Amino acid sequence: DDMAHLPGMDPSKLEVTKTITPKQLVPNQDLVFGRTFTDHMLSIEWTASQGWLAPRITPYQNLSLDPATCVFHYAFEAFEGMKAYKCPHDNTLRLFRPEKNMARMNGSAARIALPTFSGDALINLIGEFCKLDQRFIPSEKGYSLYLRPTIIGTQRTLGVGPPGSALLYVIASPVGPYYPTGFKAINLEATDYAVRAWPGGVGNKKLGANYAPCIVPQLKAAKRGFHQNLWLFGEEEYITEVGTMNLFVCLKDKETGQKELVTAPLDGTILEGVTRDSVLGLAKERLEPKGWKVSERYLRMQDIAEAEAEGRLLEVFGAGTAAIVAPVRKISWKEKMIDCGLKETEEAGEIANQMKKWIEDIQYGDEEHPWSVTI
Ligand code: PMP
Repeated sequence: DDMAHLPGMDPSKLEVTKTITPKQLVPNQDLVFGRTFTDHMLSIEWTASQGWLAPRITPYQNLSLDPATCVFHYAFEAFEGMKAYKCPHDNTLRLFRPEKNMARMNGSAARIALPTFSGDALINLIGEFCKLDQRFIPSEKGYSLYLRPTIIGTQRTLGVGPPGSALLYVIASPVGPYYPTGFKAINLEATDYAVRAWPGGVGNKKLGANYAPCIVPQLKAAKRGFHQNLWLFGEEEYITEVGTMNLFVCLKDKETGQKELVTAPLDGTILEGVTRDSVLGLAKERLEPKGWKVSERYLRMQDIAEAEAEGRLLEVFGAGTAAIVAPVRKISWKEKMIDCGLKETEEAGEIANQMKKWIEDIQYGDEEHPWSVTI
């Protein structure tokens, strides 16, 4: 590795400049996802000749970039989405499996020729940043501080090549509960005319360039009255992901009647969701002993339609950091409307409810668990 001799990211070099104009807090009930930000931001610059420079926490501020900066032309950008939680009992701050976000961000950065970094170093710096801006996190369950680590190529050039400089920054937005008045099941439209990702592509990386092309299919689904679109892949119409969540399906086996929790396998076309991994882990630990089968396997739209027709489809839900789980009521596919098993009076199935509770209890420290990292 020819960069091995360059300085790595070093939290002991952190320089902090505090704001002299602290912002007024937005009332809890008015918080909108990603709309308002805390007083500060964390920034770490990198150059090919100097490695990672001293990390800085500064007042939240605009970036100033030359119009020729490579991020604007060739999409040298990768990001993460994670949250800091404040424990309602003792006000401790916690991150949830942050090393997973760091590993994923390094994988994303490396794929687009941006520099990688020590995940432990960035977790440490994010911890300092969260502590400084902790007054923005309400100490009420359901509230959290959404963290957006971002890395961009900053070299001023129209030449297409590896960026000679980069900026990693983290901004933070206080957020309220995704479902302030309890779960609200969503309806999906299966998208059969566009694909989100493909084998050999970058669907498993969190690149900004993966997201912009998803908006038009999303808008088309919304115009027809659906909350999200469901991404399918290939002639077989395998189910992949929904909006910005991984998808889980609970169904009974045709022959044995065994209950199975299924999600798509990580074949490079699926984002390796931290929530997905957590749902799988908890299901293996807590549902398998109750007779459930837990599978990462391909499932066709046809399989879901058949399960529904035969009364074997139990429930469907999305899983991601923002909502934890998003129960699904209906999926529109071709001329069919698939009923995903919720009663009319129900907004979530048993497994979605159970997973939300298990994960939230760990995130807020109600259950002590190695996944919850106190900062
Ligand atoms: N799929 C996509 C495409 C996403 O953008 C996200 C959000 N990061 C997820 C799945 C869920 O991942 P996580 O559980 O890590 O939030």
